Amino acid sequence: FYRDEFTARSAAVRVRFGAGIRKAVAEEIEALGARRALILTTPQQAAMADEFAAICGDLAVGRFTGAAMHTPVDISEQATARARELGADVLVAVGGGSTTGLGKAIALRTDLPQIVVPTTYAGSEATGILGQTENGVKTTLTSPAVQPEVILYDAELVASLPVGMTVTSALNAMAHAAEGLYARDRSPLSSLMAVEGLRAFRDSLPGVMAEPGDVSARGQTLYGAWLCGTVLGQVGMALHHKLCHTLGGSFDLPHAETHAVILPHAIAYNAAAVPDLLAPVSELFGGGDPGLGLWHFARDAGAPLALRDLGLKESDLDRAADLASANPYWNPRPVTRDGIRSLLQAAWAGEAPA
Ligand code: NAD
Repeated sequence: FYRDEFTARSAAVRVRFGAGIRKAVAEEIEALGARRALILTTPQQAAMADEFAAICGDLAVGRFTGAAMHTPVDISEQATARARELGADVLVAVGGGSTTGLGKAIALRTDLPQIVVPTTYAGSEATGILGQTENGVKTTLTSPAVQPEVILYDAELVASLPVGMTVTSALNAMAHAAEGLYARDRSPLSSLMAVEGLRAFRDSLPGVMAEPGDVSARGQTLYGAWLCGTVLGQVGMALHHKLCHTLGGSFDLPHAETHAVILPHAIAYNAAAVPDLLAPVSELFGGGDPGLGLWHFARDAGAPLALRDLGLKESDLDRAADLASANPYWNPRPVTRDGIRSLLQAAWAGEAPA
């Protein structure tokens, strides 16, 4: 992965791994010099907030269980007001990318430190990126102010992730690594992490599917999530993320499922331009073409394969292709309207990438 010239960036993040490591949260609050934690999660995971409140004891001053997909600004403002009212001096975000996003949005407004305890593989905890939605428009910013300070990866917490979400969330994470391999601003370190992250999921996902409560296999998936998320935090993304953003933003398709369907097709499209950079993907997943290898892996894991199954109408494909090729952005292979239209057709029908 050596390059003649590169710039490598790493964030100062403290990361702890281990089954049951969530119980160290009080220790981590104190290590940050804090004493008043606000615990964040979604309505669906409210019981998790109760468990954390019990673990934190006197160090917890309150809970906010209103985190929602795509970080709506009005919810972030309510939660920020609550943090201020309570005099919180640290945020403990327990959940997936939506909860982590809420913690980042509060940190942006208050500069409070964040401890994140991920319960999916989305990887947001490892980045300084925040996507927010206001009046139906999603904007994304990157700032050290939103980068979480501490991450506790506890395999016992992902053990409850339903099998369907496990697979789509894993493919969502793997997409960050796969696109990281050809990022213009990749470094040897980001590429090493990308390959190791993909390998971790390849090795552990079948075990998790066979036994969803297998904490050892779950631990390895979290290891993959950390690596893939760290890659996302270090390098720029391209076609895959642009397509998913378009499909999610303009057609309201679900986040992780859309990533799962698009990944093999976007990688196959780009493999035509950068086969050497994607060779590690073929080595890991077989299939000759890296997109085809990923498609077989996704199919064997029971992932959704067709955009039509996510609710996209065939009559929407022309508009989706127009939108995804309208504003030029960097991609290793030129993004043409016809190329994207045929990619989307195959992804819509659930066919293997051409
Ligand atoms: P999510 O956080 O929205 O979670 C989906 C649902 O699953 C929620 O109801 C949640 O409560 C529930 N859930 C989470 N973990 C669970 C568990 N272990 N057991 C049972 N239920 C559980 O979904 P996500 O895919 O983790 O995150 C998606 C969001 O994160 C999107 O808004 C995306 O844009 C954002 N994201 C941001 C970044 C970044 O770097 N900024 C990176 C990746 C994703």
